Amino acid sequence: MDTPHHGTEEIVLKGIAAAPGIATGPAYLYTKQIPRVERKAITPDDVDAEIERLQAANARSEKELRKVLTFAEQKLGSQSATIFEAQIMILGDAILMGSIKHRIATELLNAEFIVADEINKYRQMMLASPDEYMHERAHDVDDVMNRIIRNIQDQKLYSRLEGASIIVSETLAPADTVIFSRNQILGYATDLGGVTSHAALLSRSLKIPAVVGLHNATKQIATGDSLAIDGYAGVLIINPTPDTLKILQARAERFLAFAQELAGIAALPADTLDKKHIELSSNVEFAEEVEFARLQGSEGVGLFRTEMQLIGKAAYPSEDEQAALYARVAESAFPHPVIFRTFDVGGDKLAPDGQHEENPFLGWRGIRVMLDRHDIFLDQLRAILRASTRRNVRIMFPMVSTVTEVQQAKHLLRQAMDELKAHGVKFDARIKVGVMIEVPAAAMMAEQIAAEVHFLSIGTNDLVQYIMAVDRGNDAVARLFQPYHPAVVRTLRHVVEAAHRKNIWVGVCGEMAGDPLATAFLVGLGVDELSVIPPVLPEIKKIIRSIKVKDAKRVADKVCSLHTEAEIRAFLSSMIKNKVPEIPLEFEGTSH
Ligand code: PEP
Ligand code: MG
Repeated sequence: MDTPHHGTEEIVLKGIAAAPGIATGPAYLYTKQIPRVERKAITPDDVDAEIERLQAANARSEKELRKVLTFAEQKLGSQSATIFEAQIMILGDAILMGSIKHRIATELLNAEFIVADEINKYRQMMLASPDEYMHERAHDVDDVMNRIIRNIQDQKLYSRLEGASIIVSETLAPADTVIFSRNQILGYATDLGGVTSHAALLSRSLKIPAVVGLHNATKQIATGDSLAIDGYAGVLIINPTPDTLKILQARAERFLAFAQELAGIAALPADTLDKKHIELSSNVEFAEEVEFARLQGSEGVGLFRTEMQLIGKAAYPSEDEQAALYARVAESAFPHPVIFRTFDVGGDKLAPDGQHEENPFLGWRGIRVMLDRHDIFLDQLRAILRASTRRNVRIMFPMVSTVTEVQQAKHLLRQAMDELKAHGVKFDARIKVGVMIEVPAAAMMAEQIAAEVHFLSIGTNDLVQYIMAVDRGNDAVARLFQPYHPAVVRTLRHVVEAAHRKNIWVGVCGEMAGDPLATAFLVGLGVDELSVIPPVLPEIKKIIRSIKVKDAKRVADKVCSLHTEAEIRAFLSSMIKNKVPEIPLEFEGTSH
């Protein structure tokens, strides 16, 4: 099935929903012109001319990128445009460029070969990382490299389309996304990429539907093929039948009506019909996202993944560097709170000095690392405290499995406070401290842990992984990654009740918090806070505003009485269909 021009049969390709929206139109297959690089020897006499060619190409690349940057700033706002500033910074990296020039002069090889080789080394390092975010950034590095090489070879950039099209490509660089958006783009579909790719973030800002991770769409589609893209369901359909188009049309209308209804919801409180307030906040990785979260109606940041700043770093950032970042985040969320989770390194996430482990998810991860590395932990704790002067900062410890770990972490927090006090540095001495419940042992001991802290936040991503003994990133066992497994839902109930017995609030910050299927159940359990990815926030708020606590409690009781995940999912789906018909449904077309 991997050949294009397959006739008129309808084919449904499933990928990952990256930017919402539905569109139909002809395909435009964008095969990136990856410049061919040949290794050519030069003579010592050629060195100056070769370096000049490199410098001219570099200057032209910068000029191109500045154009894209200006365009992106106008279209997306300055925060989203920072990606292009980062690319311009690579071009201006004196060490990298110095090393390229040095190699041209000493190895006597042509400029494009050295550029490709040197930047490739950098890229390989990023790809070797187990971190998905690093893989995405490697594509940005690729983009810069191809741009310089294309300019060394004096080739023109090509980004004009004939008419309105759905772009199908192996991968899209952020610059492609923006440049293409000058044409009439109906959607983006890519073989590679995840929802965290910058191209995905940009398509969301540009309001262009996008589906990524389609694996081999480019092999099955030719320019001109008739396509339909559903950026809600993460589906791309080749040769959609009239029936499918009808379904999609109906879905598009329903979503439009839904979006219009949701547009006004940002300013409304996340209160149930009987006026119980649920604190609805956001999971955020980068300072730039806080503003978007606020526009979506977020009440602050329920999970700031501080370890994201370690990406691409050979060492942990200094206390001052961290303090500046945390202050910026706290400032943009103010007056709402921000929960800074201390570095959750290890597992599938990067640590600057991480070691190879046979079982990283059962290994040196999260608080375990920090309790072994007091110097790094104290730097971070002082940095967070320094950002807390306006009293909207909270601290949370990840990957806790024992009460002792909590006590040790709190002890170090007190030490960080004493050190700041001794230097006359201001901070919030009554800062609230919480623990993530994501290890079964911690869930069992939730009440004893609750006695030590001001709040608990349940990390369902890891909790499900550890309860089910299923690697959260392993496709082969994905069907056992069951957030609605009876063991999981009962554990959630146990944790919520434990927190309430100790009179502290409890939230959920794993992906389950942002799943519309879970909202009534979680509210029914008595969860006080939900921290979700910003795009789904209005939808979750709408559900909260459409239920009563007493009905939600009945939902939770029923869920906790069932014996299989299939039963629980079926029950929750039937509740959604009956009670809140405007909630978007999964795509219902046929699949091959
Ligand atoms: C979780 O485990 O649910 C969580 C929110 O943390 P992370 O996904 O960063 O591990
Ligand atoms: Mg986790």
